[in-house]
Amino acid sequence: MAACATENHFTPDAPWNFMVEYEVGAYPAVKKIYNTMNCMHCEAPPCKAACDAMGAKAISKNQFGVVLVDYNKCLGCGNCVAVCPYGTISLNREVRDLNPGLGKAGAETIPAKDRHPTHRKKARVAEKCTFCAHKLDKAVADGKVNLIGLAQEYTPACDIVCPTQARVFGNIDDPNSEISKRIAATGAKQIKKQFGTGPQVYYVLEEGALS
Ligand code: SF4
Ligand code: SF4
Repeated sequence: MAACATENHFTPDAPWNFMVEYEVGAYPAVKKIYNTMNCMHCEAPPCKAACDAMGAKAISKNQFGVVLVDYNKCLGCGNCVAVCPYGTISLNREVRDLNPGLGKAGAETIPAKDRHPTHRKKARVAEKCTFCAHKLDKAVADGKVNLIGLAQEYTPACDIVCPTQARVFGNIDDPNSEISKRIAATGAKQIKKQFGTGPQVYYVLEEGALS
């Protein structure tokens, strides 16, 4: 979450990546479970359908199936927020370019026109995880698509910093990719699958965890 906030400058009112915690079991045999949440980049995203129905057409999918919001087309109506089963898209209330306490540093010194479109922030628009689309686009520009999920500069920030390698990012359409092997080996599952949106994030769930 911290890495994503630093990389993508989200504000607390519109988090791109956050933790949810809940308890399972009955006292005294209870335990706390933590789930990290971000956009599931659904195969059939209801947020996109809701946005299309509004006529805004601000939500699209890129060549990797990543669901993206065009801030310049967004009307701020919030319909996408209402229909997302995962609660992972939000309307922001403000734009904060500076991380408190860090001062002006790194990407924040880059003029907006030179930033990736997902980092040209606007107020009162829908925001969410992009799977660090700026890094994926850089991989395409550099001709290094084969290094997505392997080289740091082409891999989402949340994946890079995870100290236990709990997060793996890659191409689930390739049965030989690391992510496909991990899903097969661990029996990782999509959550809230019953909504039929085809989430593209898989979880290794503990026994008793919500699914
Ligand atoms: S998880 Fe929510 S925001 Fe992400 S693609 Fe699915 S419906 Fe849209
Ligand atoms: S808030 Fe923006 S992205 Fe969401 S449905 Fe409305 S116009 Fe589309």
